[in-house]
Amino acid sequence: MTMSATSSASTNGAAAKPAKRLSARTNAVQPSATMAVEGRVKQLRAAGENVIGFGAGEPDFPTPDIIKQAAIDAIHSNFTKYTETGGTQALKDAIAAHETRQTGILYKGSQVAVHTGGKESLYLAFQALCEKGDEVLILAPYWVSYVEQVRLAEATPVVIPTTAADHFKVTPELLAQYTTPNTRLLVLNSPSNPTGMVYTEAELQGIAAWARTNDALIYSDELYDRVVFIDNYARWLRVAPDLAERTLIVNGLSKAYAMTGWRLGYAAGPEWIIKAMLKIQGHSNSHPTSITQAAALKAYTTDLSDVINTMVAEFKRRRDWIVAALNDIPGVTCLNPEGAFYVFPDFSGVLGKPLKYGRTCNTSEELSIYLLDTVKVGIVHGEAFGAPGCARLSYAMGLDKIQEGVARIKDALQF
Ligand code: PMP
Repeated sequence: MTMSATSSASTNGAAAKPAKRLSARTNAVQPSATMAVEGRVKQLRAAGENVIGFGAGEPDFPTPDIIKQAAIDAIHSNFTKYTETGGTQALKDAIAAHETRQTGILYKGSQVAVHTGGKESLYLAFQALCEKGDEVLILAPYWVSYVEQVRLAEATPVVIPTTAADHFKVTPELLAQYTTPNTRLLVLNSPSNPTGMVYTEAELQGIAAWARTNDALIYSDELYDRVVFIDNYARWLRVAPDLAERTLIVNGLSKAYAMTGWRLGYAAGPEWIIKAMLKIQGHSNSHPTSITQAAALKAYTTDLSDVINTMVAEFKRRRDWIVAALNDIPGVTCLNPEGAFYVFPDFSGVLGKPLKYGRTCNTSEELSIYLLDTVKVGIVHGEAFGAPGCARLSYAMGLDKIQEGVARIKDALQF
């Protein structure tokens, strides 16, 4: 007997739902816009077009040799079996020691779990702690997955808009405006993707004061903590150590060690949270590959500051160039980011104007399509980050390409 995917009658007579349908949870989620832009850029390249893609959120540097070698050694020594859910004890201990050095707070291995990217750490954390009725404060412009991950946990994302005038940073007053008895947690991300903004110690003190008067959790997404261009990076738990009991740190290998494809992130925080996340992880992907864990153990037990500093110095050189060049385009303004490898210019000065190649764009989404169609440049429209009028450009590519790309943008934006 064959079953029709669209059959609508069940044997007991009740109307059955068709097999070919999606869950409401899935329908509520938007696909990742940053991945969509990269996908389109790759398609055009495959078709032979000379495209410059400012979409990618990954360092263009190779993974350090010493880390690669640790993975090769793991394969040769047959370290290729299942590990404990949430990672090997050695790796969890190494990450706990790393976080203890970073924060000055004593972390134990039992307060750490490793996942297939910081993306999974955040996903599991929302799943473990949020439910219908919970409100999660997300600061716009935001990293695209926060909102969708909160929706997947059936909680409510509460987006707090910030402006370029405030350097895209939230204030305690603004937080208070959006706080309700249902506020479950706040997601902090400094340096920020997409803006590259870094909170100062005084600004974090303000947020800590808000947190102390509200019983909310804090997720501190520190994926870019090693990619900063200033001397005194203000780390959340250095500023507010008393809030460690309510803070979940999320970090990983991707940005600091140029290891996006290896897929390893971690969460560090109170044991009760880590345990809850492990419960779900034990029934989903269990752990990142054993080989990646061996590589991560090397990364977190070796001082790689020289390699990281070289990479960061190059990012800074590019940042200096691209910020100046974008500000030189009539109708475009761009803040100077202090971390990550993104700029987040405001294009509203060119919106609504007839542009050189015969189109008038009313939104930054239309503008991003115009740039891809006409001068083959990929940028990610601000709407995707909750910031219409702006767009994100990643400068994780050689300066020559950045220069060519910005020259094309300048050409296309003439009005
Ligand atoms: N948080 C932020 C702010 C990010 O930009 C990213 C990656 N783009 C992640 C988390 C997740 O990174 P990964 O899964 O590669 O560790």
